[in-house]
Amino acid sequence: MTRRSALAALAAAAHAQTKPYSGRTLVIVTAHADDFTIFAGGAIARLIDQGYTAHLIRVTNDEKDSWDLPPGETSHRNTVEMRAAAGILGIQEIHSLDYRNDEMDPVPETEIRARLIFLFRKLKPWTLFTFDPSAKYEENPDHKKTARAAEDAAWNSGVHLVLPEHFTVGLGKWTVLDRYYWARQLDRDDANKAVDISSTIDRKIRAIQAHKTMMRHAAHQTRARLAQAGLRLPLLDEINEAAINKLVDIQTRERAEALGKRHGLQYAEEFHYVPLAGGYVMRNAVPIR
Ligand SMILES: [Zn+2]
Repeated sequence: MTRRSALAALAAAAHAQTKPYSGRTLVIVTAHADDFTIFAGGAIARLIDQGYTAHLIRVTNDEKDSWDLPPGETSHRNTVEMRAAAGILGIQEIHSLDYRNDEMDPVPETEIRARLIFLFRKLKPWTLFTFDPSAKYEENPDHKKTARAAEDAAWNSGVHLVLPEHFTVGLGKWTVLDRYYWARQLDRDDANKAVDISSTIDRKIRAIQAHKTMMRHAAHQTRARLAQAGLRLPLLDEINEAAINKLVDIQTRERAEALGKRHGLQYAEEFHYVPLAGGYVMRNAVPIR
């Protein structure tokens, strides 16, 4: 072996160690601009660090999530800020389905599913991140509808009789291989995957802070709710960027620390993880080559 080829082999080995998932794609299906950063930003950034290429699919247009702006301006700002947040995590591309925020009930789930199947067949994701379709205390209708459509699309995209017109334009069947489901609250039995986000928590926090319009809305809502109950949070006496960023930092670390404690980690995110197969199949599967 020449010195040059030995160095190339060493570099390839180092790359395989630090980027074990090179060549894989992950797709995040999020109802709103800020769901993916809040619930899974640390794990997504970590998988990107390890070699994944990431695509974000945002289902709504986020036209209602602001404190005092009209709908068009709200949607525009939330979209621009989502792009900034996605950039901080290292997400390569964003696809927006632009359904009206909190108005998705009349939209057939099969329509959303069809749009997701098209994108899954095009992007060929190994891994899917989305809401847990079985989440117990989910109250947001956009989250519930997005979760069901994404789960349904993940396996239907591999069925030859579903949307066969795709095959005439060069797309093929594709089945998502594993899934990370996030939720507001996962039961201990359902939270079967903890991801160590100690190396990515700072990026996660910066990504959440990038949703300036949404975080400002959340801060005003919190202050108004407390005031109704005759309470005040001194940090929010004056709502400005510094106060909002500090609150995001404290709340994000607090949650990640509490989840980390359960698993002996400094900071963690928890998921309900669905592998490509289990039991006999995975115990006996061997590499093709
Ligand atoms: Zn949301």
